[in-house]
Amino acid sequence: MTIFKSSSPPISVPHHLPIWTWLFDSEYSPLRKHNAADIKGFTNAATKEHLSYADIKAHTTHLSTALVKNYGLKEGETVSLFAPNTVWYPVAMFGTLRAGGVVSGASPAYGIDEMTYALQKAESKILFTVPSSMEIAAAAAKNAGIPKERIFLLEGTLDGYKTMSQLLREGSEHGEAGQIPQFKLPQGKKNSQVCGFLSFSSGTTGLPKAVMIAHSNVIAQCLQVEQITPDTLRKILAVLPLFHITGLVHQLHLPVLLNANVYMLPAFTMDAMYKVVEEYRLEEMLLVPPILIRMVREKELLKKYDLSCLKRFSSGAAPLSAEILELLQETFPQTATGADDVGFKQGYGMTESCSCITAHPPSKYNYKYAFRVGTIVASTEVKIVDPDTGRECGLNEPGEVLARGPQIVMGYLNNEQATKDTFDADGFLHTGDIGRIDEEGLLSIVDRAKELIKVKGEQVAPAELEDLLLGHPDVEDVAALGIPDDYAGERPKAYIVIQKDKRGDPQAVGKRLIKYVQEKKVRHKWIKEVEIIDEIPKSASGKILRRVLRDMAKAGNKGI
Ligand code: AMP
Repeated sequence: MTIFKSSSPPISVPHHLPIWTWLFDSEYSPLRKHNAADIKGFTNAATKEHLSYADIKAHTTHLSTALVKNYGLKEGETVSLFAPNTVWYPVAMFGTLRAGGVVSGASPAYGIDEMTYALQKAESKILFTVPSSMEIAAAAAKNAGIPKERIFLLEGTLDGYKTMSQLLREGSEHGEAGQIPQFKLPQGKKNSQVCGFLSFSSGTTGLPKAVMIAHSNVIAQCLQVEQITPDTLRKILAVLPLFHITGLVHQLHLPVLLNANVYMLPAFTMDAMYKVVEEYRLEEMLLVPPILIRMVREKELLKKYDLSCLKRFSSGAAPLSAEILELLQETFPQTATGADDVGFKQGYGMTESCSCITAHPPSKYNYKYAFRVGTIVASTEVKIVDPDTGRECGLNEPGEVLARGPQIVMGYLNNEQATKDTFDADGFLHTGDIGRIDEEGLLSIVDRAKELIKVKGEQVAPAELEDLLLGHPDVEDVAALGIPDDYAGERPKAYIVIQKDKRGDPQAVGKRLIKYVQEKKVRHKWIKEVEIIDEIPKSASGKILRRVLRDMAKAGNKGI
């Protein structure tokens, strides 16, 4: 049996602490470890609004009190956050956790149907949003049975809705003695048995599911990553979405543990991002491949800024090409000197592993390791299994990556079957990715065996597009898969069997279907091309043979 183990010293997860206590009221808290004057926090880089971690502690005390005493939030109930990156996001998030609630983030780009699905699956009781998303939030909340009085604004104002500052006031009006106590783990339970987050992922197959992330998963992942983070990392760029697991861990929790400043942008543009790096002299940028691609391609823009402070890039969520790595070294030679703390690192993992299974430690920031996705993080084991035979593979043999460790999540909410299929009885998570481990202990991801399509690092579940298209009157049968895209990594393609009576003008049907998806789904799920075929290849049991489709897609493009 070949189990690959981490070579880092094991972490010790404090199993008696829920997240809020861990970060704001324990020996791990920056508020205990540093002088008041040295406490860092979240900054809106555009408006300069700043909330220190001490402010967050005070605000979340008041907010949790208001949520529980004035709005009846109970332990274990879900609060959804439907908003772009704002410094008030962590207030709502940590406030919910302090009350013993569960936080579920959703993409601010969602349409009504997608948001309704997210609220219903997460069984949300309260919703936080921003004025620009209120139309969709209100309609989705109505569909999901959340009353208007339980929809709040994280920032800004809008007639008829309570704002964060009103909630904070309502909480403070209970007086110091009237504040609710911080959430304590139920008697006899460890933090690995208590869910803190519900994030969405389709896993290896099917529709997006609510992933139950325990308090201990986030704590463990932060300790695993802290161990391989340079002591000098004190400024963190937060341009990745906060609802995604990467943002949740690396932009909201880890910075508090590290007592690092976090710089958020309310609206992302390349210009705005460069301004932050220049103004705050950031040494590291945590990004996803599509942004890195723009950085090396849009060279004119770079000339406007002094980015000499940059020492290294960090990337994750999707594969990166060797060509882009080459161009990065050329464009930012100061990251390619080979010196300590300088270079490029990746993290590899998934929502179900609460972010990283592997990552580059500082000794491997050199670009020569960059194409691989790092070494196994502390206290984690990896198996590489032949997907056809189930045989455990050895060094350099490719197979499905399975991982076990304290960051592997609890399972899927209300979906025992998917949980059983994805998480082995002996604790290993099936990632659906094909990889291999080499003599240097580095993992390479060589292929993806699961259905998932990754567009700009964001998930698109083929089943979701197939469900939608099957409901269209032109469609008799459908299968969706990802095809390579120079910029986004992948984009969805749909193979369509047209209803018999609609077969006269396939071009027109194709165009109609592309438009239909655009009307119903968030932009990254839009279909790049449609190909009309006579029959969707299926197994005897009716399962779509995606490998056959992938081969067809590789063989040539007959798309509309
Ligand atoms: P998500 O749950 O949205 O984070 O998606 C997880 C999936 O993204 C993984 O199973 C991989 O297929 C892909 N992924 C994440 N990180 C990387 C990486 N560094 N390189 C290649 N693929 C990645």
